[in-house]
Amino acid sequence: MEIISEKDNQIKVEEKNGLNGLLALERPAAIPDPDYKIVLRWRNIIAFIIMHTFTIISFFYLPKLWTTYVYQLLLAGGIGFGTTVGSHRLFTHKSYKANTFLRYLLIYFQTMAGQEPIYRWVRDHRVHHKYTDTNADPHNSNRGFFFAHMGWLCCKKHPDVVKFGNKIDMSDLANDKVIQFQRKIYTLASILFSLVIPIIITMSFGEDWWRAMNFNILRYTIGLHFVWLVNSGAHYWGTRPYEKDISASDSLLVSWLALGEGFHNYHHIFPWDYRTSETKAYWFNLSTLFIDIFSKLGLAHDLKSASDDMIRARVLRSGDGSHKYSKMAKDDVEKVLDNNNLTTKKDHDWFWGWDDAEMTEDDKKDVVISNPSEEEQH
Ligand SMILES: [Zn+2]
Ligand SMILES: [Zn+2]
Repeated sequence: MEIISEKDNQIKVEEKNGLNGLLALERPAAIPDPDYKIVLRWRNIIAFIIMHTFTIISFFYLPKLWTTYVYQLLLAGGIGFGTTVGSHRLFTHKSYKANTFLRYLLIYFQTMAGQEPIYRWVRDHRVHHKYTDTNADPHNSNRGFFFAHMGWLCCKKHPDVVKFGNKIDMSDLANDKVIQFQRKIYTLASILFSLVIPIIITMSFGEDWWRAMNFNILRYTIGLHFVWLVNSGAHYWGTRPYEKDISASDSLLVSWLALGEGFHNYHHIFPWDYRTSETKAYWFNLSTLFIDIFSKLGLAHDLKSASDDMIRARVLRSGDGSHKYSKMAKDDVEKVLDNNNLTTKKDHDWFWGWDDAEMTEDDKKDVVISNPSEEEQH
């Protein structure tokens, strides 16, 4: 992959403007200039050191009661779904619609996660999709595996993250009173829901406070690393069946650990697809199972997914050859590309999700919408 510095990027933009006589799509550089100074966020660094110290200690004081393990596993599941089904697939990408009960449930689960308020989580993730692997990407994988994993949380954001982040449409969540309320009370609420209450509940089973606290921190740390792997592992390991020129990759290991979020090459190409992958195996994508169950119950609607034709055309146009469709005979390939009018590659298709203003009617026309809500049907 080509890595472009800020200076080269400026030359590129100027050349393009000169050639076309049009304002080229402004895209930030892929890496900071060599003289860029990193400002460390000591509060987070110290918190991570304390958290990992207690995590190591916890292995010497594991819980004695099986009820603690069952409870913490259920808690980890709820927290995981709050992040994957809530912050990610619903609030960031708008890949389906949830009724009020499901929205509140996901907001509650997300508060237990102890990460960031939904509003900030979504802004970081939308800007990641829109400006992937550039200075505006909060966890730009061009800056190394550790930076993409957790290093980005240990330093101040590059100025481009703020500059380009301000261009992202956040009006949906800015006008949502519940999301704004969660944003206001997040620090206190997440300490209470992710730490204090789980420790008290674990102690109520008869576990002593030291083991209860340590095991709760262990569960929290492991959960964070699984989520972080989507930004690091799933931008380094695996195949690129749909678009070979991006770092995002499909990794079964990350998918399994992160409840289905590791099919990341697929996800960056079709971010509005509620399944985040083609796989039918729920075991590798429990978040899709969760949404499908709530859809059957009538609490989730307008589940968007890419049609088989869209997927096939994309694989043939830009995949790395690892997908089964890449093995089609040459004549068939040309037929599929012609039928879909996809013989030429578009300049860019960096969408953050369903309501991205750059997504045209043409981009949406072959999308499958399951379990349509009343307004979609009429
Ligand atoms: Zn990504
Ligand atoms: Zn995403």
